[in-house]
Amino acid sequence: MVSETAFAQVLDIRILGGDTTLVHVHSRPMAYACISGSALKTQVRGAGWTPAGEPCAVGTGGVTTTYAARPEAHRVANVGLDGFRIIGVQSLRDPETGDWFDLRTVMLGLAAEDAAHRHDVPTLVVLAAGAAVNRVVGGRETLLLDPGTWVWIEAGSSHSLINETGPEARLVEIAVR
Ligand SMILES: [Zn+2]
Repeated sequence: MVSETAFAQVLDIRILGGDTTLVHVHSRPMAYACISGSALKTQVRGAGWTPAGEPCAVGTGGVTTTYAARPEAHRVANVGLDGFRIIGVQSLRDPETGDWFDLRTVMLGLAAEDAAHRHDVPTLVVLAAGAAVNRVVGGRETLLLDPGTWVWIEAGSSHSLINETGPEARLVEIAVR
């Protein structure tokens, strides 16, 4: 875990090509942003290995909510050649709707801007590729330079994202409801 707030934990999860994680337990709903994909297999404790899955695409995201009702102990093997890396967000909240997250991918070509918009709930902005500037309206400006870097947008804040530098920037917004 790299960061914890009252409502969420941020995890920087990396598995080198050919490596296998230790057995670990998931007991909270998790959303993630793909930073680097590779073929993974999973073994739930007491069961066999799954077939290798397709690598996640850089800048896409996903959600696994079953862990809340049914905690899962498993280990994961990277059977591909590439490093696997995701930034994960575990929600510590229990919204009545059962919808824990909203995900959105933002792709920005050179000089493109994702216009200012407001977030009603805390939202993690994760840089998956390229580089971008995050501008909070009436607040600070953050340079997201390296894939895997992230910044929280506070509930009720508005922000914009700008690619000022070069190749396509991909970002994933993970709102924690
Ligand atoms: Zn946003």
